[in-house]
Amino acid sequence: MNVLIYIESENNAPKKSSLEAVAYGAAIAKGQVVAVAPSDADTTELGKYGVDKVLQFTVSGKLEATQVASIVAQAAQAQSAEVVIFAKSILNDLAAPMVGVHLGASVASNVIEMPDFSKGFVVKRGVFSGKAYTEVALNNAIKVLSIKKNAVAMTEKGKTAVIESFSPSVAASTITIKETTQKTGDILLTDADIVVSGGRGLKGPEHWGMIEELAKTLNAATGCSKPVSDMDWRPHHEHVGQTGIKVSPNLYIAVGISGAIQHLAGVSSSKTIVVINKDADAPFFKAADYGIVGDAFDIIPKFTEALKNTL
Ligand SMILES: Cc1cc2nc3c(=O)[nH]c(=O)nc-3n(C[C@H](O)[C@H](O)[C@H](O)COP(=O)(O)OP(=O)(O)OC[C@H]3O[C@@H](n4cnc5c(N)ncnc54)[C@H](O)[C@@H]3O)c2cc1C
Repeated sequence: MNVLIYIESENNAPKKSSLEAVAYGAAIAKGQVVAVAPSDADTTELGKYGVDKVLQFTVSGKLEATQVASIVAQAAQAQSAEVVIFAKSILNDLAAPMVGVHLGASVASNVIEMPDFSKGFVVKRGVFSGKAYTEVALNNAIKVLSIKKNAVAMTEKGKTAVIESFSPSVAASTITIKETTQKTGDILLTDADIVVSGGRGLKGPEHWGMIEELAKTLNAATGCSKPVSDMDWRPHHEHVGQTGIKVSPNLYIAVGISGAIQHLAGVSSSKTIVVINKDADAPFFKAADYGIVGDAFDIIPKFTEALKNTL
């Protein structure tokens, strides 16, 4: 069973979520593990995580989902891949089902565990904002999966991948993509390993300096609760929750956030949750791995200082 993984790049390197997708593919492959990657990605590391062969294609500008789907489908056909794997992302959530249509494949998104082969090819998918899961049997000969971030441990296999150039035919883009520039130093909320979020307990935008300082010390992204962005204390792209961004970092630190069900819906699949709240009865403590009951204005500066002395 050959497996094909689509690699997304960022700053000329494969994204961590793509390396997790590689680890997933390498764990289930019974044949070749092939990666298909844009030429702006340095793919030398992929062998380390289990890739046998990299198909590298040249792109000019940003790809749209239909183009990604076409490239991946052509690569899958060329490599006789029976399983095609994406890391879950906004673009890949659109491209994966299109690959399913191209290849007549079964498709499962937001996969959170390795397949259960004892029942055929059954995968677990996160549903209802991570509050539940469902098991899906993929019965077609070809399967397309997208893997949820942080669902798979990256294990090193120590291989060296052969790199081949790949020239798929790609139709011209049918949409205009407006590129926006990320501010230097900003960490994308959805990609962050650590997120520090603030809520209404911080009283006003003028107090966000301590949240940013803590985030900077931990190399984390900053997030916030909905009322905070509604009041324009923070930009809307930082709003985390059911109606905002859903995150699944290794560490989520919630400061002055009550833990309403709508906020939890966006953070409950974080690996470790730390809650700082002055009210010992705040609902967030029920979802927390670690909790500190106390005044954020007292705790956060001391916490940041202590981290600076340790890290
Ligand atoms: C349809 C719908 C969708 C929604 N979607 C979302 C969503 O996506 N995301 C979201 O976040 N919300 C969402 N909400 C709103 C949600 O119900 C809550 O109202 C909101 O999450 C509360 O935000 P908060 O915890 O920041 O504020 P509050 O509920 O006001 O809580 C503030 C917390 O800060 C604590 N605090 C106060 N002072 C301090 C201090 N000095 N130190 C430490 N702690 C302190 C308090 O004890 C309290 O627990 C939605 C609501 C609806 C109806």
